[in-house]
Order: sequence, then structure tokens, then C-alpha cells
Amino acid sequence: MASHDAILEALGLAPTWRLREQPGLAVDPLSRRAESFAAGEPVPKAAATAATAGIAAPKRVAREEGADAPDARIIRIANLDWGGFAQDVDACIACGLSQTRKKTVPGVGDIHAEWLFVGEAPGAEEDARGEPFVGQGGKLLDNMLAALGLRRGENVYIANVLKCRPPNNRAPEPREVDACRPYLNRQIELLRPKVIVALGKSAATTLLDMEATIASLRGRVHRYAGVPLVVTYHPAYLLRNLPEKQKAWEDLLFARRTLRGGDNAAAGTAASAEAP
Ligand code: URA
Repeated sequence: MASHDAILEALGLAPTWRLREQPGLAVDPLSRRAESFAAGEPVPKAAATAATAGIAAPKRVAREEGADAPDARIIRIANLDWGGFAQDVDACIACGLSQTRKKTVPGVGDIHAEWLFVGEAPGAEEDARGEPFVGQGGKLLDNMLAALGLRRGENVYIANVLKCRPPNNRAPEPREVDACRPYLNRQIELLRPKVIVALGKSAATTLLDMEATIASLRGRVHRYAGVPLVVTYHPAYLLRNLPEKQKAWEDLLFARRTLRGGDNAAAGTAASAEAP
């Protein structure tokens, strides 16, 4: 495993900041580490389940040649178990990305995880390997996980809004998001994580079904299908905007407090951090 110093350096936080202790805010035992890292017609049965659970209802998507009828597809996906999930994604031809992908990228991790991290879509390396966040952004994500004492695959599940790469890493189109949404909904239903961390605007606005900036969504506990959801910056954005890593670290601490203590402990605001 990477040394503290290496993680510090990867997070670009060393050695300049530490948590500010706030009255009434229990000092997190891991603040030492923080210092160190200074880091929903007739609703078919399954769709009714999603609606009841408060999950954004999948919109009907145009039918690609050879694809099954939209309602039948939604019902099938909403009833998948983990065993059949990846295979179903692999066979998906619901949108044009199925024509250009090398591999599908269903998701990876511990199916009993309390943490769910959701990104936007696979990039070139993910498309080649079939695993989310394995490129540069993924290295940063792994280091962010390590800073929290977490590891990919252990109490952590990582998924994307889209399971296939958009050509040239262009932004996902609404119909692609709509086509893929039933898969993400099913992953969340199967996982029932204690907290969802939306990585970047695309994940946040898809999950929350609203347009907003990351800045306006950070530091608050949102909900998706009843599961607390915290928003932070996308690792790729952090790689281009190093000073924002500090905010991302605050968001992760906020997510951890949300996971541990529920909304009361998280109290609606993220921990502040400052340079000493
Ligand atoms: N960016 C994402 O949002 N997801 C990946 O898997 C890789 C890069």
C-alpha cells in the first residue's frame, strides 16, 4: 500500500492544511489522518418498486434494432441479481454506445459495501479494461479512498452513470443517460449503501434529476431512493484544479460523518479545513 507521504503527495495536500476544530463538533479520531493527508401508464411491477423507493423513474428510450421492448427491458433490469447484472450490461444494445465500446464497464467492488461512489462514464482505459476509474483519475480516487482508510473492493463499490464509453470522452447524451439509468437504479437497490458519493456534475445531476452546480450541491445531505447522497468534485476535475482537492477532502469527511451518524451528525455542513 502507498505510504502516507505518497498518498499526501498524490492528493496534493501535503503538508499544508489541517482540520479546524469546531466547538460542538467532535474531533474526528481520524483528523490526525486528515492532517497527514492534509487530504417511475400502467406501472409494471418492477417500475412500481422503483417509484415506491423514490428512485427516478427510467424514461422510455428509443428502441435500437434488435433491442427488447423498453418496458420489458426496464422490468428485466429491475429484477436482476448480482449474478446476472454484468452479463446483462454486456449484452445491452439500448443505445448507440454499444456500437463503439470495447468493453462494458458495469461497476466494481464489494456488493455489501456501505460506500457507493458514482462517476460519469468510462474513459479509454476503463473501456479497454472493463473496470471503472482505472486511469489517472482512478489513481487519485484510490488515494482519496486510502486517505479515508478505504480500499477499492472493500466496503466500497464504484460505478458510473454510463456503463459504456462515449466516443472521444464526450459528455453523455440525455438519451444515453436515460438508457443506462435502470442499471444504476438496480445497482443502488441491490447494494443499499449507507452513503452515495456523486463524483462530479454529471453523476450529481443525473442522480438528483436536476440542473445545478457542484458548488451549490456540496456540503448538504441529499437523498437518492432514501439513501443519503453527498456531492463532490470529479477526480478528473481535481487533477486539473489541484487547490480544489482540499474541498474534496472536506466532502469525503462529510460523507463519512453522514455514513456514521446519519443526517444529524452531518448537520448539513461540511467540516471546514484551513491551512495552518
Ligand atoms: N471518469 C469517470 O467518470 N468514470 C470512470 O470510470 C473513469 C473516468
